[in-house]
Amino acid sequence: MMIDRETRKRLIVAVANRVIASADELTDLDRAIGDGDHGTNMRRGFEAVLAAADELSAKSLSESLKGLGTTLVMKVGGASGPLYGTLFMSLGKTLADEVSLEQVADAVAAAIDAVKARGKSEAGQKTMLDVFFPVLAVLREGGGDFPARLRAAARLAAENTVPMKAIRGRASFLGERSIGHMDPGARSSELIVDAVADVMEGCA
Ligand code: ADP
Ligand code: MG
Repeated sequence: MMIDRETRKRLIVAVANRVIASADELTDLDRAIGDGDHGTNMRRGFEAVLAAADELSAKSLSESLKGLGTTLVMKVGGASGPLYGTLFMSLGKTLADEVSLEQVADAVAAAIDAVKARGKSEAGQKTMLDVFFPVLAVLREGGGDFPARLRAAARLAAENTVPMKAIRGRASFLGERSIGHMDPGARSSELIVDAVADVMEGCA
């Protein structure tokens, strides 16, 4: 598939708007098991991304993703800023404008590895990563009804963080008390995947 300038812009705008629209929900989740700033952090970052959407999408997919990642590192702050920044910058390192599903899956796998290295984190620790592993599995499977399956996998993965005990990030300070709440970063990752799936559906 070809990710042209118009598609790049649609992706950037859709992702940014979805995160911005859910900022209050993300903050509420972070209030329960963190310090209540995840929504504000993400809104600040994605408002800057939205403001730069034209400029970013005029570049190649690789450069737009790197620019998006850099903007998030500069604007989001907290633990999530450098981690989301790493995710998008890593995607930018591997993706060309013309991509196959297999290349997207390889790029997501490399981005997950980059986030793991940066956060010293693994699957099952109640973080944003818990959404990207099942998303990668769907990408590897391929097959029909793709956006709907991506969306469903991301939703289920975020819900699956509820019974987990946090091992990384601020929520880990709560130990057992982190159990019973959705991880805010998992929810923001779900929103990002959801918005990408919406754009893919529109392209199909
Ligand atoms: P902070 O925790 O500094 O206040 P945010 O509230 O913006 O930052 O982001 C919190 C989210 O970041 C968590 O919900 C979790 O998903 C993610 N996170 C925190 N630490 C890590 C880590 N080491 N690896 C992966 N994700 C992490
Ligand atoms: Mg926080």
